[in-house]
Formats: sequence, structure tokens, C-alpha cells
Amino acid sequence: MTLQLTHLGTGSRGNATLLRTDEVNVLLDCGFSGKELERRLALLELKPEDLDAIAVSHHHNDHSKGALIASRRWGIPLHMNFDTCSRLGLDPVNDCTLFEALGRIEFSDDLSLLPVPVEHENADNVGFIISHRGERAAVVTDLGSWSAELTRHLGRCTHISLEANYDHGRLLGGPYPDRLKQRIMGRGGHLSNEQAAALLSEVCGPATRSVVLCHLSEQNNQPHLAESEVLMSIENQFDGDLSISLQSGPEFSHYIGQVEPERLSSAHV
Ligand SMILES: [Zn+2]
Ligand SMILES: [Zn+2]
Repeated sequence: MTLQLTHLGTGSRGNATLLRTDEVNVLLDCGFSGKELERRLALLELKPEDLDAIAVSHHHNDHSKGALIASRRWGIPLHMNFDTCSRLGLDPVNDCTLFEALGRIEFSDDLSLLPVPVEHENADNVGFIISHRGERAAVVTDLGSWSAELTRHLGRCTHISLEANYDHGRLLGGPYPDRLKQRIMGRGGHLSNEQAAALLSEVCGPATRSVVLCHLSEQNNQPHLAESEVLMSIENQFDGDLSISLQSGPEFSHYIGQVEPERLSSAHV
């Protein structure tokens, strides 16, 4: 089996992404309750006990809420950086294994992660570059801007899952208070559809087989707006699969290197 990547759900009410190889099952972020994690994994015929590790990108609730529960209830080891560990009130020796920015985390012979720092409000957030037998994939959410370093890593990935959080017009015209709007739009906020499209147009090339837009705001975005903005900017350079992962996932799995995702029959349950 090649690397299988499945978003169990993405958005401000919870994020978790499953990575499966022949040797390990690793979860990126655990923003769902224990019960909800169990339910979503069961749709893939897995149990929480089947997880070998959880890597947490940053301390915000929608990425970390279920991590400690999963660790205590099912004995799953947690990996995170020092800031996330201390913001969550965890013990860096007994509760988790610390990683450093750009320090490779090896889970098995066929899976490693490289945490790449991204700017995000009052958090030491990282995007994950996943390596599997010479192929790379990326899962990057919760960032207001991007660095040349991130661009360089994304340019080498055959699969990219990237946040497309809000539509500019909908956010501005929507009900959020002005201060919150400014925070979301700031350098350390979230990526708009337009920004996601601009970043993807920098990094997508013939080697990019699949792109997933994720962490869409339910209030300030619509899947068709994100999709059309991104397609407009990359259609001349990208002929792979463009999909959208929503809060209610999992909807599909990508096998890294292959274009077509596998749609899950259990989607929309
Ligand atoms: Zn988030
Ligand atoms: Zn966040």
C-alpha cells in the first residue's frame, strides 16, 4: 500500500487527518472528542487502539481537544512542540514527545514528518510535510501568510492539503465583529480562498497529483467559492484532482501519487 491520507473532518469545530502506511497509522491533530474520533475511525474500519501516534500542530481547541483523551484512554503517544505542550498544560516528559521546527519525526521506515513553522495567531503552529518512500505530501492549515521555506517544501509534494478558510467578500459582509474580521485577515490569521489560490499557483506543477482544500469556514465560505477561486488560478498548470474536505468528513481517501481519490461509501452518514 502507498501512503493513504484521509481527512476525518476539517474546520473550526474539529480537525483530524489519518495517515496510513503498511507499517503505521498516524493521526495529524485530534480536534474531536473521544467518542467522535471513535465514530469517524469506525467509518474506515479502524479503532483508536490502531493508532500508533498523534502529532498535534498547535494548541487551538479544534486541533487538540481530543489529544489528551486519546492518549489517556487508549495509550496513544502524543507528539508536539514545546509551546503547544505548555499551552495545553501537559508535562513534556511524561505526557508527550517534543519535536522541534524542521526536526524530522520518524514513525517507521516508511513514514516521517517534517514540521514547518507557519505564522498563526498567538500559537506556535506547524504545517506537516509527510515523507513516504521518496514521495511527499503536505497538510497545512491555520496560517495567515507563508514563508519561502514553506513554498519550497510544498513545491516538492505530490499531494497538498491546504486551508482555504474564507471568502473575502463573505467575511467582510458577514456578522463577525470588526476586530475578529481583522484577526482572521491578518498575517497570523487564516488563508482566504484568494491566498490559497495564490500559494497553490506558486507550488503546483506537473508532479502535483492531488490538492485538497480544507478548514473552510462554515460562516464565511462556500465550497464552490473556494473551488472556483483555486481552479481559476491553477487550471493551466495542474491537471490532478481537486477535492474539498468539510467538517462532516471523512468523504474520501487519497493514495499519494495517484490522481483519483477513493470516495468513501460512508460519506454523508
Ligand atoms: Zn484551526
Ligand atoms: Zn488555529
